Amino acid sequence: MRIDVVTIFPDYLAPLDLSLIGKARRDGLVDLAVHDLRDVTTDRHRTVDDTPAGGGAGMVMRADVWGEALDPLLAVGGVLAIPAPAGEPLTQATLDSLATGDGPLVVACGRYEGIDARVAEHYRGRDDVRVLEYSLGDYVLNGGEVAALALVEGVVRLLPGVVGNPDSLAEESHAGDGTLEYPVYTRPTEWRGLEIPPVLTSGDHGAAAAWRRERSLERTAARRPDLLDALDAGALTKADRRTLARLGRVVPDGAPSPVPVTVRDAGPDDAEALAALAAATFALACPPGTAEEDIAAFVAEHLTAERMAAHIASPTAILQVAEVGTGRAEDGTGTGAGSVRGAADGATARPELAGYTLTHLPGSADAVPYADDVAAVVIARPAAELSKIYIARAYLGSGLGRLLLDSAVAATATSEVDGEPVRALWLGTNARNRRARKAYERAGFVVVGPRRFRVGDQVHDDVVMVRDLT
Ligand code: SAM
Repeated sequence: MRIDVVTIFPDYLAPLDLSLIGKARRDGLVDLAVHDLRDVTTDRHRTVDDTPAGGGAGMVMRADVWGEALDPLLAVGGVLAIPAPAGEPLTQATLDSLATGDGPLVVACGRYEGIDARVAEHYRGRDDVRVLEYSLGDYVLNGGEVAALALVEGVVRLLPGVVGNPDSLAEESHAGDGTLEYPVYTRPTEWRGLEIPPVLTSGDHGAAAAWRRERSLERTAARRPDLLDALDAGALTKADRRTLARLGRVVPDGAPSPVPVTVRDAGPDDAEALAALAAATFALACPPGTAEEDIAAFVAEHLTAERMAAHIASPTAILQVAEVGTGRAEDGTGTGAGSVRGAADGATARPELAGYTLTHLPGSADAVPYADDVAAVVIARPAAELSKIYIARAYLGSGLGRLLLDSAVAATATSEVDGEPVRALWLGTNARNRRARKAYERAGFVVVGPRRFRVGDQVHDDVVMVRDLT
């Protein structure tokens, strides 16, 4: 690959003789030349700049001088890279494209107030030249040389043969799916009281890989949440989805990427939307074969807006909602999955209720759970009931269930009844719904016994599960 750097400070680029880049040059893997811009000047003072047109502080680098320097270097076309704080952020994807591109890469290092804008405009007009105005970050340096060093090093290390083990290029921040790398460690295993996480020294490679992936997603969520918004949903594993849900991101059915989700206490304004969500999702929770009229009767009696409003107002109910999207709607219409995708695009900022949980606190610390079969197996007091966990259809399997469950557990664990902390959270779930049972088990619930639950004439066999909160 051919690279040319043009600058008024050629000595600044001396580090390109060092380390892996220097070795790549000596090995002939890259043909790199540094040029002094002043060599093309013809006046006695070797002038490269002049005062800004329109006035203002500082000096601007002249287009005619840059044209003289760049024309021969771009005679066969190529890429003209111009460092500029006003340029597009330099990314790994850009470096990848430069490392695999044809033609020379020419870097034009500005100084002062930068290079006359007509230089970029002129070369952009040529079919055989790609102009890349790129920024190292949202700050200002004195000149483009540091940015040239960064670009050249970033591109050259991607050329075949430069980095000894190509695997190390794949397992890095911004490589692959674009997430940040997990934290790395080496010997000694204990240093200043700090230990290497034991999973990494356990010899269990599967567990180590899972640990790394989780840390990578956690780090990305904490430091660069914008990168999570660009993840390819199709490439996310179930474990990824669970981790992302814990980090406040879910993948709606059919959506290209994860979207932010928040869990909050329901307010009076949520009653209507909650009733609609409950009516739409209740059937999903019923065992196959449940009569439609039984479902309708149950919805009409128990899942109305009035009921929801009563729960929201009740001091013994904890009603939490999962809200997907970024802000309150102007008109409040439309709650389909389409609006979620719109929110992810930034096209509409309309939040949508994607699920909810309803937990009942007991009326007194020693209150016995209302059904005999439950009271027989739920021993701890005070004991709260996780009465409902509903997830909208588009969010089934998205990881939202776990997020809501963890939130309900956390809210209950910090609640008190008659001044006593709640010690257990119990729920009943269909005995044959193994998926639900598994999900509850992963959130720390254990099966303690059977229970019968009635919808209309039909009696369902449930199991009672308990989460210890002590
Ligand atoms: N007046 C310019 C502006 O406000 O956008 C800043 C000029 S800066 C002082 C001089 C030169 O430093 C720029 O032409 C560019 O080559 C380089 N430079 C400064 N900050 C940079 C950054 N964040 N990324 C890339 N290059 C930068």
